[in-house]
Amino acid sequence: MLGNSVRLFAIRGIEVGVHASWLVVFGLVTWSLSTSYFPQVLRGISPAEAWLLGAASAILLFASVLVHELAHSFVARSRGLDARSITLFIFGGVSNLGGEARRPSTEFVVAIVGPLTSLVIGAVAYLLGSALASPRSAAAVASYLAVINLLLGGFNLLPGYPLDGGRVLRALAWTATGSLRRGTEIAVAVGQLVAYGFMIWGFVWVLGGELFNGIWMAAIGWFLQGAGHASLQQVILEQRLRRIKVGDIMRPDPTAVLPDLAVADLIERYLLPSNRRAMPVAEDGRLAGIITLSDIRHVPPDERASTPVRAVMGGRSDLVTVKPSDSLTTALEALGRGDYEQLPVVDDGRLVGMLSRGDILRQIQLREELDLESSEVRATARPAA
Ligand SMILES: [Zn+2]
Repeated sequence: MLGNSVRLFAIRGIEVGVHASWLVVFGLVTWSLSTSYFPQVLRGISPAEAWLLGAASAILLFASVLVHELAHSFVARSRGLDARSITLFIFGGVSNLGGEARRPSTEFVVAIVGPLTSLVIGAVAYLLGSALASPRSAAAVASYLAVINLLLGGFNLLPGYPLDGGRVLRALAWTATGSLRRGTEIAVAVGQLVAYGFMIWGFVWVLGGELFNGIWMAAIGWFLQGAGHASLQQVILEQRLRRIKVGDIMRPDPTAVLPDLAVADLIERYLLPSNRRAMPVAEDGRLAGIITLSDIRHVPPDERASTPVRAVMGGRSDLVTVKPSDSLTTALEALGRGDYEQLPVVDDGRLVGMLSRGDILRQIQLREELDLESSEVRATARPAA
């Protein structure tokens, strides 16, 4: 979930929250509906009634965006991706899915189901609005929902990555080129055009006196432009990490302690002198577990001399480890799963090294400073620009 968000509820394990910026939209939508839309379509309506309908419509707009995002999340989950949370913010909603689609067909269906859902809601609301002769207020709300959902579906189908339509384009370009990287570059390049289009359009509106709508349009363009650029960086980084193996950068032959060592000795002889917060525990070269500061804190100081490491360490069964042949992408995912600082590297049950988050970051930095990848990046980025 984004920072500055409030969790509202969970639907089938998916956390739903709103970002502080969403309140701005909620206020603006309620205000504009109750001061202009409803008084115009329902002549003679009282101000109180207009505000009530305005707020109700804004909540239904919230529900519409939520259903759109839930469609993404549920389809993602049915395709084996992890759907964790949905956050509604000033420009709509974001679904936080664990990991990227591994196949273009997955990306395609996960992306397209959102706009299709909005178009269906829009069509249903339109039919309801035309069928409902009375009360007139219900018909007016339904017509508003029809328009807003058709717009939502249509806007999201624009081929600007990271909009849904941009993801659809990426899936198609990925299929056509056989490369996720090339597909992303093409979708992001088209997305930048769409983003600049929004900014120019917004600017023209501002010049034409449509100050609010113009600034809004330009802000959406600005947001899309930044998000597209960030997505490309993300894919490039992931591909770099995929090529480097854990065995290439791990610290080999780590010091490990025996399970029978007393916790007091562990602190005095290993943790304090080497400034470490965790130690692997091994017996005959085989990893038996890992002991960390939080394990040690469960032992009262006066019992530390008589308590063996074995009694408090995290055991082999619930231990997250990586293999030397794993890619750094896999290692980063493993580190992120439990918010670990470091992981034991295990080959066929034997402890062969340790890998920390810092090791991975230093490797990325080193490669960037040595300019090891940029020539290749430039060569492949050019045709897409
Ligand atoms: Zn969407």
